[in-house]
Amino acid sequence: MRYLDQHCDASPPAGHAVADAESEFLDHALDTDIVVRGTKLCAWATFFWDGRGMRYQPLRSPLRKLRSYSPAMTDSEARELLAAIPGAEQKILGATDLRGLLEALFPADLWRPTASLRHGAHWLLWLDEQAPTAFAQPLLKVQATLWQDQLDGAEKHLYGASSADEARTLLDQWLGIEETAGAIADLPEFPLPIPDRLRQRVETMWTRRTIEKRGIYYRTIVSRRIPRELKEDVARMSADYFKSHHSELESSIVQEISDFLPMEEIGALRKIVPPEVPPLPPADAALVAAWFCNSYLPYREWAIDRDDEAVRTVCRERGTAFAKWFLEFYPTALAAGAETISFRRSGRVMHDHAGKVTLMIILDGIGIWDAKELTRHIKSEQKRLVLTKNDWCFAAVPTVTEICKPAMRQGVAPRNVNPSAYALSSDSVRLLENEDAAEILRGARVNDFYIWSLIQTDQTYHKPGDARTIRDNVRAILEGLAKRIASAVEAVPNQLKLNVIITTDHGRYLGRSERTIPLMPGMLSHQRAAWGGPSSASDLRTDFEILPSEKAARLHPERFGLLHPALVAISEDSFLNTDGSRGADWFPHGGVWPEEVIIPWLEFQRDAEPPHVDGRISGSGVEGRDGEIEIHLTNSSPLELNILSVLIEGSNLDYEFPLNQKLSPIDAKAITRRLSPWPSASNVVRLKAKCILRLPTGDQLTVALALDLTSESLQKRHSDLDDLL
Ligand SMILES: [Zn+2]
Repeated sequence: MRYLDQHCDASPPAGHAVADAESEFLDHALDTDIVVRGTKLCAWATFFWDGRGMRYQPLRSPLRKLRSYSPAMTDSEARELLAAIPGAEQKILGATDLRGLLEALFPADLWRPTASLRHGAHWLLWLDEQAPTAFAQPLLKVQATLWQDQLDGAEKHLYGASSADEARTLLDQWLGIEETAGAIADLPEFPLPIPDRLRQRVETMWTRRTIEKRGIYYRTIVSRRIPRELKEDVARMSADYFKSHHSELESSIVQEISDFLPMEEIGALRKIVPPEVPPLPPADAALVAAWFCNSYLPYREWAIDRDDEAVRTVCRERGTAFAKWFLEFYPTALAAGAETISFRRSGRVMHDHAGKVTLMIILDGIGIWDAKELTRHIKSEQKRLVLTKNDWCFAAVPTVTEICKPAMRQGVAPRNVNPSAYALSSDSVRLLENEDAAEILRGARVNDFYIWSLIQTDQTYHKPGDARTIRDNVRAILEGLAKRIASAVEAVPNQLKLNVIITTDHGRYLGRSERTIPLMPGMLSHQRAAWGGPSSASDLRTDFEILPSEKAARLHPERFGLLHPALVAISEDSFLNTDGSRGADWFPHGGVWPEEVIIPWLEFQRDAEPPHVDGRISGSGVEGRDGEIEIHLTNSSPLELNILSVLIEGSNLDYEFPLNQKLSPIDAKAITRRLSPWPSASNVVRLKAKCILRLPTGDQLTVALALDLTSESLQKRHSDLDDLL
């Protein structure tokens, strides 16, 4: 066959002579296997062959095809691309759409998914890593613009980049490596793991700034909406800085960054500068939690194994002042039905359990500090569990399991506990400590309320050992529990909404306590509490009475919601054993010090954030005729979703495809549907597509789909054929 290659960009078919000059053409003008190249020579050959009735045809031009996708691409960029990418010509000529072309030229799993926050992050990372050469940019820009059009929010700006430099600028802003004020600051947290090369960049940049700002650069970082791992990085850089600049460290700084540092690092900084002496507790219950978490607890934790009388005096004064305030506060709050009291809150939760599965986990005898540790482990074990409420409440008193836990399970004051029942309602399910909770939860049904009470934590605190060993053991237990909780959460059938509450029955004293307080006749002691006696009545005329030793208080049973008179420690000491013997214990409980009565209340929801779904619709057809589209959906979430329908709309056109099909977890699906009449080429570019899905919880989710439709008009098709004749 005789061929024309106007743009000199096509490979000549095998065995064909190539004519670039007039003389070469004349040598082969009458042959059948020749390729004529160049605009001028092609015009001449056409004239020559037409005049003799000889057949010929144009070779397909990769340049022209490239530029049909990206008109902004210059001739030299297109030629560079052809020369640089192996097999570029076949890839270009074989492509049926822009995404297919990009996929062939730059293999990556980037081109097919719909624009989204995750995809935008992936796009930037790809640009940053691959650093595509300048000649590719016009093509990338066209695709980036198409993605940009699929979005409305701040995510749109992620597709403003089509080169490595542009991507790096956006990544630096998004990850907080550089300051930003614009739309990028409004983006949600970066959704993908951060590659090492970026971590390196962060490290270099922030270390320098940390030095420049004399250790306090973290302040500009921790308030940003950036991944926690980066905040932990900057906190570590600060800690490193202060370890070699002791005089610049202030106690408030340690407190500020302690949320982002491991225990050992906090300990190292506390050695340089101890926590500030906490003020006396506030009288307003609403301010107590902040005082406890920010001032009192850091000091108490630091003081645990410090043998210093001045420190002990501070703790004694703060602890006792709080205890006295609490004994005034508690009867009033109890009478008012306040939800700051733990069993009131659990009672409400148990009444309010319709429409979901509730798993209430009571970890015996843990404090706010343990809950923090547990949350960190749960976060890394179970991504589906989203912490929706990070709260606290007051335990019942005395702070011992016998009194507090039945009250918690039944949602009533200790004196109203029904001794023959386990929980508030008989249909609550009790999970046993050594049972495989996951096995039982696999059979969960809507409205089920599970109570999982674990005593392992309290037991570990009561084992002999020094403070450090005991706390290390508790941390190991918490890590193991996080794993059990994670698998229990996974076991609950996916179509059910699941709420998880993690709390405790009572807190505990952060230190070592000597048994010195004498008992009253007939009472039984449990470390920092004692109760019982010959009569359930009390001769007290007030809510409570502080004993002359100032070490303990007598409680009015009725006003404290108790069946029997009780004694609680308000100093750092414990009661003598019931047999009168003495001794000392680490981490006892029973009294009313802040860390004994202020307990954690955490609420989690499974799948609280929308799952991640990508999709596209592709197809080609002839305007006005019947055509076929293929709908591709990818579900990257662990949820089984229901595809309700797909809509294509815009330009006064409206196509709806009711589907009602399942989309399995971590799976993709392709569905074919007829589209009639096929839209015109000018309408196709204005159309948008979306998919409506239903989540296991019943909530709906709308996802934008990429639309890859091509449309040919009949008229155009005829004229193309004419060209070839
Ligand atoms: Zn205990």
